[in-house]
Amino acid sequence: MIPTMRSATERLKKSVRDIPDFPKPGIVFKDITPILQDGQLFRLAITLFSDRYQRKTIDQIVAIDARGFLFASALAYVLGTGISLVRKKGKLPHKTIEASYDLEYGSNTVEMHVDALKKGQRVLIVDDVLATGGTMKAAIDLVEKLEAQVVEVAFFAEINFLEGRKKLGNVPIFSAMQF
Ligand code: AMP
Repeated sequence: MIPTMRSATERLKKSVRDIPDFPKPGIVFKDITPILQDGQLFRLAITLFSDRYQRKTIDQIVAIDARGFLFASALAYVLGTGISLVRKKGKLPHKTIEASYDLEYGSNTVEMHVDALKKGQRVLIVDDVLATGGTMKAAIDLVEKLEAQVVEVAFFAEINFLEGRKKLGNVPIFSAMQF
């Protein structure tokens, strides 16, 4: 990693706030709102992603509900791509496909519109945090059901001890920082 990127990452990392026992006892929640609330830090975070993807061919970004939307939409604006949404069940108005998974706290079903992606599109999937990996695995399954190609999956932060990346198979994974 080049020194300027390392110092940017360190600055961002220090700004992630640990919230113990949220939303359930035993979970340490990685709160990224201090970064979203600060214009300089938010721009720095998006620059970490855009520096990585500007020279790659990405046709479309797939964004995961809900904090993933925030990073994904700013990045899509910089890259000039559209965004396709992975949302919690019941939120999307048109015909959907769905995938279910276990979460660090509970279980969940996510959906995409049946026409959210075109066959063969080169897709980057974006979320804020990689925890157990269930959410991203479900998103990958949905993208593949729509016959698009996952170029990489990107996270702002990865929680190493939960070993979420083991669930994601051979898909290339980028996390801007690890805890
Ligand atoms: P998982 O499916 O376990 O990888 O969980 C990932 C999703 O849940 C992401 O969309 C995160 O926003 C959220 N999440 C799960 N665990 C945490 C955590 N400890 N801190 C912050 N966000 C979390």
